[in-house]
Amino acid sequence: MHHTKVLIIGAGPVGLTLACELARRHVSFRIIERAAVAPQGSRAKALQPRSLEILNDFGITEDLMRIGTTDLPYRKFQGNKMTGETPRTGFPRNDTRYPKTLLLPQPEVEKALRVKLQDLGGTVEWATTLAAFNQTNEGIDCYLEHADQREALHCNYMVACDGGKSTTRKKLGIDFIGETHQEEQLWVGDVEVEGLARDAWYNWLSPVFGIAFALFPFKNSHIWQLQAVMPPDQDGNVPLPTLEDFNRLFKERTQMEGVTLINSTWQSVYRVNIRRAERYRAGNAFIAGDAGHVHSIAGGMGMNTGIQDAYNLGWKLAAVINGQANDNLLDTYGEERIPIADWLLETTSQRQKVLLAGATSGKSGFESLRTSDTTQLNLHYRGSSLCRTGQPTATGLEAGDRAPDVQLENGSWLSDQLRGTEWKLLLFSGERLSGQQLKVISSSDERISKAYGINTGVVLIRPDGYIALIAAEAREALDYLNALNR
Ligand SMILES: Cc1cc2nc3c(=O)[nH]c(=O)nc-3n(C[C@H](O)[C@H](O)[C@H](O)COP(=O)(O)OP(=O)(O)OC[C@H]3O[C@@H](n4cnc5c(N)ncnc54)[C@H](O)[C@@H]3O)c2cc1C
Repeated sequence: MHHTKVLIIGAGPVGLTLACELARRHVSFRIIERAAVAPQGSRAKALQPRSLEILNDFGITEDLMRIGTTDLPYRKFQGNKMTGETPRTGFPRNDTRYPKTLLLPQPEVEKALRVKLQDLGGTVEWATTLAAFNQTNEGIDCYLEHADQREALHCNYMVACDGGKSTTRKKLGIDFIGETHQEEQLWVGDVEVEGLARDAWYNWLSPVFGIAFALFPFKNSHIWQLQAVMPPDQDGNVPLPTLEDFNRLFKERTQMEGVTLINSTWQSVYRVNIRRAERYRAGNAFIAGDAGHVHSIAGGMGMNTGIQDAYNLGWKLAAVINGQANDNLLDTYGEERIPIADWLLETTSQRQKVLLAGATSGKSGFESLRTSDTTQLNLHYRGSSLCRTGQPTATGLEAGDRAPDVQLENGSWLSDQLRGTEWKLLLFSGERLSGQQLKVISSSDERISKAYGINTGVVLIRPDGYIALIAAEAREALDYLNALNR
């Protein structure tokens, strides 16, 4: 029997993020993927500011910024008449270097993560399925099916990143609570478009369908993502579309002359499911990403939330495996991430109603789905058992909040110093302590004091960029870290 510390099931964006997190902490793991090759459908096209910060910690955001776009305007039509255009703006805030959503196809995000993983010495095992497993007191015995052989593998921990239909979740006996909205379905796909300039996100709105048709051009590519709301038949079904169907529907709903859709490389039916796993842990097995939560794509947050799940779980698994924390730390994964999933299901359901509401309000269209919440910068873990109440701050910043980024006087960003796997100690005053896995950052720049609302004491920041403790003395931070192992 082979051995590994962590088996990751699924090499979508969530499994890949987790793999990078473990690889850069030198934890032994395997990442398996049922598909023989990476899927090419564009699917998620939005990387939200919080995810951009996380990928910046991996050092890949700047490369992604070059191939995506942040500024494409929304162009709205009723039939063949243009009714308006809204520029795409960011949400003004100076506590992040990435205030704007980055638009690019999901396969590009996955590719960048795979390249990063390879740099870190990891690799995806394609055409490999988790066929069966059995949890014991010693860990988990797994049976993997490769293209040409079966393998017995023992792992200490297993993380199911195997998508909304997760068979691992089902085998773990974790319920997926919620509902399927049979009436809310969309045709989605990738096409090339002849006859339209690639300078806007085109939305044809109608009082009947809401989004009657939408075409989004990706930068540096011939591909456009297509979405169209499709009412199901009496049995609740929507047929799988063909390129001919896309063209017929386009003509019917837009009455645009001289536009043809060609070379479709992906066609699918998207049906809204609103479900959340009843728990995220069963013994030594965890679930993350779509395996834990599915919801409307309105607002563009599914992949993003999954990436953030993996970023929460990765350092915790590594800390327990490397003997720096006891097993209780792993319970805080569900404690912190389940409330986020509940918020996600609620907010995306509200946005879905707007999407389907039709153009009658004059507000329908994707641009009304974006609010400052979709940046995911405001999400926090206040109240988590990992937070310690400490010194109050002038800005109201508390333990559990995301550590704000700050542009320093010399033009660099605080996040340049926060990058890396360690805990960070922002030192505003007091003695300069050191400890394993603790990076001390002297906070002499006034802008940091202003952003954090304190002039003295320390701020202890977790490896995933959230504040654990704001204290008068550095010693309290060391006590906090020591307590993780008690
Ligand atoms: C049209 C569309 C638009 C979207 N737009 C957005 C958006 O703008 N923003 C956003 O954030 N999200 C969006 N999403 C959602 C996003 O695509 C998903 O949330 C994301 O793919 C989830 O990632 P994941 O890694 O959890 O799962 P997946 O990407 O589904 O990956 C799971 C992987 O596990 C593999 N697998 C399954 N079972 C096994 C097994 N037993 N053994 C081995 N491997 C297995 C699968 O083959 C798959 O590759 C959109 C989705 C669609 C369809």
